[in-house]
Amino acid sequence: MTSNKKIIKLILFIQFLFFGLVSCGQNAKVKTSIHTDIQEQTSKIFDNLVTIRRDFHMNPDLSGKEKRTSEKITEYLLSLGLEVKTNIGGYGVVGILNTGKKGKRIAWRADIDAMPSDIPDDVDFPSKNKGVRHICGHDVNTTIALGIANVMASQKEKLTGTIYFIFQPSEEPYTGAKAMIDDGLFDIINPNEIYGSHIAPLATTMIATKPGWLFADYKTIKISFQNSDENDTIAAYSKELISNLQNVAPDSKFWDPNTLSDPNIGLTNPNTIFTDYLFVNQERFNVIKTDKDISIDAYIGSSDSKLLAAAIPQLKSEIRKSKFAKKLIDVTYSYERATVNNDKHLTQESLASIAQLYGTENIIRLYGEMPDYRGDDFAYFQEHVPGVYFYLGGSNFEKGIISMPHAPNFAVDEECIRTGVNYFSSMIIERLKNHTK
Ligand SMILES: [Zn+2]
Ligand SMILES: [Zn+2]
Repeated sequence: MTSNKKIIKLILFIQFLFFGLVSCGQNAKVKTSIHTDIQEQTSKIFDNLVTIRRDFHMNPDLSGKEKRTSEKITEYLLSLGLEVKTNIGGYGVVGILNTGKKGKRIAWRADIDAMPSDIPDDVDFPSKNKGVRHICGHDVNTTIALGIANVMASQKEKLTGTIYFIFQPSEEPYTGAKAMIDDGLFDIINPNEIYGSHIAPLATTMIATKPGWLFADYKTIKISFQNSDENDTIAAYSKELISNLQNVAPDSKFWDPNTLSDPNIGLTNPNTIFTDYLFVNQERFNVIKTDKDISIDAYIGSSDSKLLAAAIPQLKSEIRKSKFAKKLIDVTYSYERATVNNDKHLTQESLASIAQLYGTENIIRLYGEMPDYRGDDFAYFQEHVPGVYFYLGGSNFEKGIISMPHAPNFAVDEECIRTGVNYFSSMIIERLKNHTK
């Protein structure tokens, strides 16, 4: 998950969101033999997976410098007998489990980078790299992907098709997925569907997601004018114009982080208020003057691509009616990024298969789009291949362990590794059975 440094306070508030979602659900008894075999294999390798996770945790690599991490991943995948491709878009690694039988091709993605952090880490296995820490849980995401690879390899004889494991560097700066794609990832692999998960502050038996956008989309909108002696007036006018794009009232419940977990209007209710919004970050206006022009830019977030698309013609039209019309050069988006966009059909089917095997009480269906500057560059893979991004619970509220990525008290209950490997291995097997595509 990516976010800027200024939002730690907000992140802490958002912890409340998930406190409301704690469940005591236990894994339901699985009904078919292959899923029982999966659970047995997961139990068999669990202690080793915990050791691997702690090794990653003690040896975190910053974005773009994931050399050691990628070597450990490669070593493990090779030990399972997978074909391995390395150095894709930096230290990206792909493991290929080909069953040798025709069938679907499913990809699972994990992010592998750590981030700068001097916040003390209250575990017995803290980071040995000063100032670097897995405070977003990518050590766990990576371990779960290795666990799924192990479990799937153990079931290879019973499976058809191909499973790809994508280990992506540089998620934190939101660049690694795009770098892997630009470096020819989809020339190497050709998945029909792609999935991935991220640790979140839910209980360790739980997962959550929704079809469509999971997060707001963010863009920088920029208005540029020719230089003149009216620059200051134009800057003030432009700020007001951009501010007026916001359709959320300043005193609305939208701004209270506790609203996210409100059972009536929060993210778990179909009547959530976190939909159809566009807001403007008032702290991130920039005015840039050059010899030739002046530009005013602002960071805006929206739940809806249509609202974002409408903003530019709306601003242009208003400026053309103003006394500054002749000075207008352009209105553009100067920064854009992909946002997680879950395939509707696959979200429904994958959640249904996990619910059937592990209990509906462990599945949270979310609504609306989260407006907190988060995101995951998994989004770039989804521009090429339909897929689903899940939240996986890493919290143990009774023990005071709360897995809110980037939060100063971020911690993980390693039981989530068991849940992740079981649920997602089962889900992938169910997806492979579906030969219709
Ligand atoms: Zn992160
Ligand atoms: Zn993350």
